[in-house]
Amino acid sequence: MQENQVREHIALTGKSLYDRGLAHGSAGNISVKLPDGWLMTPTNSCLGRLDPARISRLDGSGKLVSGDKPSKETFLHLAMYGERAGCGAVVHLHSVHSVAVSCMAHLDADNVFPPITAYAIMQVGRLALVPYFAPGDEALAGAVRAVAGRHHAVLLANHGPVVAGSTLEAAVYAIEELEQTAKLVLLLQGHPVRHLNAEQVAELNRRFAS
Ligand SMILES: [Zn+2]
Repeated sequence: MQENQVREHIALTGKSLYDRGLAHGSAGNISVKLPDGWLMTPTNSCLGRLDPARISRLDGSGKLVSGDKPSKETFLHLAMYGERAGCGAVVHLHSVHSVAVSCMAHLDADNVFPPITAYAIMQVGRLALVPYFAPGDEALAGAVRAVAGRHHAVLLANHGPVVAGSTLEAAVYAIEELEQTAKLVLLLQGHPVRHLNAEQVAELNRRFAS
């Protein structure tokens, strides 16, 4: 894909996430790896109204080359790329159900979701929980790096999800599945739940897990 097409793809993806209520205000950011750097959505930009020509272009060290100033959460994305060699895109959202789960007490930090659906296991896998840090605190990058090698999906406590994929499409599908699973977990609160058993989970991991 040419860089211009990637820029269009990012803008269309942002609009789709925004139109479906998965992003609001200036929350959420998207990046895509290029052969010599990254495209990153700009700071204070609305994912619903991205101008493809103004998307930030970063060089291989993460420095701005052209376009608007990049998101203040760029370091989160770079932490994922740094630990995952096959990573082609990263999406971060403040989507409401995922954020709600990220605020819950007593989560398993190595595997946030109980095994409720096959698609959550296939697309999200073991979701890691990273402790809370204030916005802009770059210590968060170290906390993400510590888990990103083993988890392509990370939930920032009291904040939201960050998901890496081989392509932008893969990252978006996975974060949408994550949001859907968070909604299901909340809907099931207080109800007796039949979980997939260990054998069923192992079979899915053998056949499908990324
Ligand atoms: Zn955020």
